[in-house]
Amino acid sequence: MKNALKNKTVVITGASSGIGEAMAKLYASMGARVVLGARSEEKLKTLAEQIKSEGGEAAYCATDVTKAEDCKRLIDTAVEAFGGIDVLICNAGISMRAIFDDVDLSVLHRLMDVNFWGTVYCSKYALPYLQASKGSLVGISSVAGLHGLPGRTGYSASKYAMTGFLETVRIENLKKGLHVMVACPGFTASNVRFSALVADGSQQGSTPREEGKMMTAEEVARIVARGIAKRKRLCLMEIEGRATHFVKKFAPAFLDKMFYLVMSREPDSPFK
Ligand code: NDP
Repeated sequence: MKNALKNKTVVITGASSGIGEAMAKLYASMGARVVLGARSEEKLKTLAEQIKSEGGEAAYCATDVTKAEDCKRLIDTAVEAFGGIDVLICNAGISMRAIFDDVDLSVLHRLMDVNFWGTVYCSKYALPYLQASKGSLVGISSVAGLHGLPGRTGYSASKYAMTGFLETVRIENLKKGLHVMVACPGFTASNVRFSALVADGSQQGSTPREEGKMMTAEEVARIVARGIAKRKRLCLMEIEGRATHFVKKFAPAFLDKMFYLVMSREPDSPFK
């Protein structure tokens, strides 16, 4: 696992914060050449400089993943800087919190634009390079991409769409040596709940959960690296993910009730 990413070129979207930032730091420390994408250019610049000052290799490109041309520029940046791509991690994402009764439809469009279309655009432009390197295409989905999460219709839908897309790309490339992995973190301490969209499309600005009790982004980064090294199809992390995957097979209606119970207990839950 330690050497799995050594001398590999790894493109990471959403690298300015949370899980993406943790992956960038960890993978660079493992000897990967990391290429960072996100909208916050200053943060990417600072992170790339920090990685280089510690002896690592990094490039970055300001990228709004909802724009196909930005995604192309990110991939071009990687190829120009390092000559190819071994791993693409489609990690950029946003969440939401509102029940479907109340939510403005623009929120669902936005979730699909960032989480789903961002994955599609980056995958499209990186695919020839990943095929050439017999590399890894990774989507950071969620436990909400394994079972519908109440109050997060657009989020779950976008993560399920990512899975359908990535699974199909995997099968189309079955004879080309491409590895495709869907990773499903559970609740992880990050900025994602602060930036989550509420019913009217504004940002939540706070978190309804105890961030200190969650997995850390660094733990997720380590587990994803292991999944890439083992060329896993599905990368489950903590008990939430494993239990959801298992119980869904045998008792999906029970799982519905558990998800309802857990999410309705959040402070200010949009349903009770
Ligand atoms: P953060 O909010 O900390 O990071 C999200 C990242 O996505 C930021 O770097 C942000 O950068 C980037 N991003 C958002 N919108 C865009 C856009 N339009 N174009 C390019 N980049 C964008 O959250 P996490 O680190 O937690 O989230 C990373 C991934 O992990 C997401 O896909 C999320 O769904 C998934 N996940 C998170 C869980 C959690 O509990 N934290 C649980 C399960 C999955 P910028 O604003 O600079 O563009």
